[in-house]
Amino acid sequence: MRILITGGAGFLGSHLSDRLLAQGHEVICLDNFFTGRKQNIAHLLDNPSFELVRHDVIDPFKFEVDQIYNLACPASPPHYQINPIKTTKTSVMGAINCLGLAKRVKARAFQASTSEVYGDPAVHPQPESYWGHVNPIGRRSCYDEGKRCAETLFFDYHRENKVDVRVVRIFNTYGPRMNPDDGRVVSNFIVQALRGQDLTVYGDGSQTRSFCYVDDLIEGFLRLMNQEETVGPINIGNPGEFTMLELAQKVIKLVGGKPKIVHKELPSDDPRQRCPDITLAKKYLDWEPTVALEEGLERTIAYFRKEIGA
Ligand code: NAD
Ligand code: UDP
Repeated sequence: MRILITGGAGFLGSHLSDRLLAQGHEVICLDNFFTGRKQNIAHLLDNPSFELVRHDVIDPFKFEVDQIYNLACPASPPHYQINPIKTTKTSVMGAINCLGLAKRVKARAFQASTSEVYGDPAVHPQPESYWGHVNPIGRRSCYDEGKRCAETLFFDYHRENKVDVRVVRIFNTYGPRMNPDDGRVVSNFIVQALRGQDLTVYGDGSQTRSFCYVDDLIEGFLRLMNQEETVGPINIGNPGEFTMLELAQKVIKLVGGKPKIVHKELPSDDPRQRCPDITLAKKYLDWEPTVALEEGLERTIAYFRKEIGA
């Protein structure tokens, strides 16, 4: 198949490109390089089955493709808050442009949605049936509401225009090719520990997240995209749940040295807890994560050691 990946030069998009090319598909990577990096896809540039297009998803695009994975959107809170209006436009207009193309060329369209659609959840763990608890006017809203609106568009194009869609709700994912300056917690802690700096825990560190290793997530993407049982939304994430203090302690143990933990102000609307209910992923995709947090952290630490020369 010929497959378009928007945001293909980002952390997840580059891993997805690798997997699809290894399966023998052609990949068109569309990216505006806001948070993506050429080095994530440098090893693919000589591959005749790989094409790179510098383009912004808010402007329309046309390609003859069989499948579209819509991943374009900054994912880390500091990055999506740099230009919040652009973040909402990216989610909403990017979805409209992908769905318009999918309708025209009869491609299947996949939306990278997020656990952020659950906001600061009052139901725990979060099943797909939970409608969420989202602040519509806060600092995170550009991302949360943009992604919620994108889901709405995917389901309306599906119902009204019979566009073939798949929607995944991704829970915090980590691994090699994260940007050291990304600002998300796993990359921050590892880079800080490798540089012998203090680890910055926001708030008291009792808030929880569930961390999925990138290879597990991409396997879930491919299974969801290539089955006929459900259009989603489907949670993909690792139900192992940890506090940020526990994560900091694990990173310190694995990296070694004697970095300290310092506490910084908790960002506004930071969700207190997050853990996926993956009953549907098990049922429809026969999917569950296989990489435990310590193992995934070790692989990620090895990548960052090289990346920052520590
Ligand atoms: P990332 O920031 O590494 O990748 C996003 C990519 O999209 C980058 O290459 C960036 O340059 C590109 N991009 C951003 N705005 C664009 C625009 N207007 N036009 C074209 N390209 C644009 O982040 P990631 O972790 O790889 O996330 C990929 C997708 O998965 C995002 O949609 C994100 O919301 C979603 N997601 C990721 C996680 C996670 O934990 N990694 C969790 C939930 C959802
Ligand atoms: N966090 C932290 N220290 C950091 C970066 C993040 O304690 O240096 C916390 C953040 O407040 C949140 C959790 O880690 O509670 C996950 O943050 P991240 O930005 O990775 O993802 P998200 O909040 O979008 O789940």
